Amino acid sequence: MARKGSGIAGQRRRLEAEYLRLQAQVGSLSVESGQIGHGNHMADDASDAFEQAKSLTLRCHLEGLLAEVNEALHRLDDGTYGVCKACGAAISPARLRALPYASLCLACKTRAEAR
Ligand SMILES: [Zn+2]
Repeated sequence: MARKGSGIAGQRRRLEAEYLRLQAQVGSLSVESGQIGHGNHMADDASDAFEQAKSLTLRCHLEGLLAEVNEALHRLDDGTYGVCKACGAAISPARLRALPYASLCLACKTRAEAR
């Protein structure tokens, strides 16, 4: 099997680090929402609800990212990492450096967002 070089190994390390970072963020969110209503009796219900909705939105966002990072790690395993899911073209290395868990090339991503 041909060596893929250190590029892929580097991406795996980055993805794993990103995964742990996101998990820690999700973990700290649950701790924070557990504290709402305890040390802060002066806050009214409306702002509590607002804070909870905000952390729920953030949590959903983080869990979505976690799923994407996880998927990218699987693609590294089965050798489809860096290939656009929609058109099969290679995703540019610059894009993968900026967004290690990118699953679409820039053209497809732009098209998907325009829908
Ligand atoms: Zn594409």
